[in-house]
Amino acid sequence: MSLADALNETPGRSGGKCILMHIRDTLSEVDRATLDKWNEDTRAFTAPKVAKALRASGHTISASSIRNHRAGDCPCYGVHDGPR
Ligand SMILES: [Zn+2]
Repeated sequence: MSLADALNETPGRSGGKCILMHIRDTLSEVDRATLDKWNEDTRAFTAPKVAKALRASGHTISASSIRNHRAGDCPCYGVHDGPR
């Protein structure tokens, strides 16, 4: 993970959710449904594509955060960074 990514990961990491799900919480109902659709069709909507779209709408997120969530490797699934 790059330093820039590490910085992106830091804010809002609480409550057992990753940054992607924190952003999802702030979205409108329509956008939330869109994001859910993207997360189902991961081949058409790759992590970099989704990250780019989210960043274009003013959110701070890296493709790796999306990839981690899709892989089940994020706080949503009880996986945390650092020593356990
Ligand atoms: Zn997650």
